[in-house]
Amino acid sequence: MNSKQQTKKLQTVICQTKHQGKPSHKKSSLKIASEVNDFINISQTIIFFWNVSDALSVEYVSDNISIFGYAKELFLTGELNYSDIIHPEDYTQVCQELSTSVQQHRDKLIQSYRLLTADKRVRWIECRTNIKYNQDNEPTHYLSSLIDITESKEMQLQLKQSEEKFRTISENSPTGIFIYTDRIVYVNEALVEMSGYSAQELYAMSVWDLVTEPMREQVKQMALRRLQGEKFPQRYTDLQVISKNNVIRDIRATTETIKYNGGYAGLGTLTDVTDIKKTKAKLKLLAKAMEQTDELVRITDKEGIITYVNDAFVAHSGYKHIELLDHPSNILKSGQHDDAFYKELWETILAGKTYSNVLANKKKDGQLYYEELTISPMFDDDGIIQNFVATGKDITQRIQMEEQLKQYATTDELTRLSNRRRGNEILDIEIDRVHRYQSSFAVLMIDIDHFKKINDTYGHDTGDQVLQEISKVISLHIRKSDALMRWGGEEFLIVTAHMSKDESIIFANKLKNAVNSYTFDVGTDITISIGIAICRRDDTKSTLLKRVDKALYKAKNSGRNRVAFL
Ligand code: GH3
Ligand code: MG
Ligand code: MG
Repeated sequence: MNSKQQTKKLQTVICQTKHQGKPSHKKSSLKIASEVNDFINISQTIIFFWNVSDALSVEYVSDNISIFGYAKELFLTGELNYSDIIHPEDYTQVCQELSTSVQQHRDKLIQSYRLLTADKRVRWIECRTNIKYNQDNEPTHYLSSLIDITESKEMQLQLKQSEEKFRTISENSPTGIFIYTDRIVYVNEALVEMSGYSAQELYAMSVWDLVTEPMREQVKQMALRRLQGEKFPQRYTDLQVISKNNVIRDIRATTETIKYNGGYAGLGTLTDVTDIKKTKAKLKLLAKAMEQTDELVRITDKEGIITYVNDAFVAHSGYKHIELLDHPSNILKSGQHDDAFYKELWETILAGKTYSNVLANKKKDGQLYYEELTISPMFDDDGIIQNFVATGKDITQRIQMEEQLKQYATTDELTRLSNRRRGNEILDIEIDRVHRYQSSFAVLMIDIDHFKKINDTYGHDTGDQVLQEISKVISLHIRKSDALMRWGGEEFLIVTAHMSKDESIIFANKLKNAVNSYTFDVGTDITISIGIAICRRDDTKSTLLKRVDKALYKAKNSGRNRVAFL
């Protein structure tokens, strides 16, 4: 027999009245004293008495069936069948349970199902049925008591839903959640993962077994107090939890006393703060390092607004903290760099790259300083720039020293003119320019006539003094754009741009005359000879110098105190 057929058979056997004619109305075999009857009718318990042998006719129904909006006569006359007021979705099950009870010859059955009220509302009832049998073990009567349990059923349903909700939240939470009595009685997946134990293993443990030795006793005592029902202010505790494979984690725990199975339990959460703790410690260390370093550190947002400065930077810049924070970092701009310089800086860092350079910056008092600066972008987890960290070092002294050294390396000590080394550099630059732009320049080589005699007559120091005086005289007669250098012992070189042959001869004679007419301290007349050459396009430094040297030789040979051009 298939299940459909079975159900049908059950319906006809147990709930015979459904869709059948009206049953006969014999006098009820149920005898109830009128006081009891009154008592029933004022109670919330509805009584039904069915005669199974007589087509399940209702022999008795208490007046209080009116609770569901029905008049009892409807059932007594058979105008309405009880099966008609059972919720259609529950009907089959109700019959099935009744049938099973009869088949097993049981005399008691407790059911819970839905009834439809006269105005079509749905109510949950608990129906307790007493089944009476005859000598042949056939059911003769059902005596049922019905109680409306809709409210408690709804409450149960709500409870079930909220429990399901808690379970879903708990199972998806990254926080470990547990309930404990003397043993752990509930754990979520996160706690299983955190502890390394399976849920089954945890249910055999006490909650304090998870805590490392130093805190275990304290946690146990606290847990036991909760099991006694003691409620103390909920507060987090930082402790260490030891996992199955002996990994120790830093945990922030919260616990609370709850009512549980007629007694008390502890409900707790464990949050793994190992990483947070490590990061915090690292950040603290970094912050300390930043405060202690001599490096000038500032952090800006991506618009260049300062959000952090370290003490070294504050002290160095001369600004107060509040004068820097929330201000644009260009407060330090010195005006020494052009727009293109800053454009390149911003383009580099906005492209996510680190920028390093020496910047001329300005302190609050206007003092200029050179800063060896590195600016690095900081990204968020999505790789988007959040901040820029700039760390710098004041290298003003180094730069000044470098400049001084360069000066030393390129200056003649006696005359303060550029030395031969610098002279060579200038010649290289100028020859390169001739090759590139087809420009030209003239070179004048000056040699003091019979200088040996001065040394010999007045001494070397006087000779030196003469060298200084001649340097000054020549310096006074050259243009700003001309380069004068001490080329050798008592030889000088002038590099002068844009000069024709004639112009250069005039210029040389002017210098020669200036020296001639100058009254030297030593009291004797001093003359100079000058050789001139103009740089040609095919000249190298060497061919040019050779020619000018030759020109000087020519001037000397033709009697000294002369100018010669080659
Ligand atoms: P001329 O050039 O007319 O041929 O004769 P001169 O005597 O000047 O000969 P020359 O140019 O060869 O002279 C070089 C002399 O310059 C030799 C050296 O005594 C002197 N001299 C070179 N350097 C210095 C220097 O730094 N100080 C002094 N006092 N004398 C120097
Ligand atoms: Mg000489
Ligand atoms: Mg000489």
